[in-house]
Amino acid sequence: MPEVRCNDMQVNVAGRTLRLVQGDITEQDVDAIVNAANKTLLGGSGVDGAIHRAAGPELLTECKRIRQEVLGGAYVQTAQPVMTNGYRLKARHVIHVVGPICGIDPNPDRLLAAAYRNCLQLAAEAGLKSVAFPSISTGAFGCDVRWASRIALGTIVDFLRGSGDAAGASEKDAAERIERAGMGEAKARDAATSHHGPGGIAEVRMVLFTRADYDVYAEALRAVLAES
Ligand code: ADP
Repeated sequence: MPEVRCNDMQVNVAGRTLRLVQGDITEQDVDAIVNAANKTLLGGSGVDGAIHRAAGPELLTECKRIRQEVLGGAYVQTAQPVMTNGYRLKARHVIHVVGPICGIDPNPDRLLAAAYRNCLQLAAEAGLKSVAFPSISTGAFGCDVRWASRIALGTIVDFLRGSGDAAGASEKDAAERIERAGMGEAKARDAATSHHGPGGIAEVRMVLFTRADYDVYAEALRAVLAES
């Protein structure tokens, strides 16, 4: 597989690019960056705090509005993505998703896979071409990075090949997710019925904050590709 730089590796999966980079997700020039949010949707530590700082206060205002007007004040559920604008970020959108808390949430493997898959599905339904993920759940949420890297990359590769598990991606669920993300109901229904796969997504990027995490993800990517 071609290695562009020692900390930038990209592979072709079913005609689309899967790229691993070491860097800061707030600096990525993509259609959407994913935020490893918490259930309040109101910001926090780690990558969540960094994204809110870089996007500016308008991001928190939109998150508060969604919490009140769309979620009726309730917490967002684990693995259910919510899309907002990107404000001062280079990325036009932020997809907020809560990963599992390891040692607390049951079935963290299924929840982590669903978090990645649902974000990709939402991005495809919204017609986005490039999406960047951080390493969800491997900071404050305590999951092992080796374990998480295999699930993250296995799920992304399956999705890009169009062979992702359809769980949680029924038309109704998809329409609800898009509605929550602020699109109109009719548009949500159209989008939900027109895409059930990678759609127009041309690049998925995993952005690893540390060299150590980058190395773990690079090893996991080789393993995932060798197994499939
Ligand atoms: P979680 O609560 O889902 O565990 P955290 O934000 O605590 O989320 O950590 C998730 C990952 O995000 C960690 O690997 C952490 O190193 C990484 N991270 C923190 N800041 C950034 C950033 N600016 N860009 C990319 N990744 C980041």
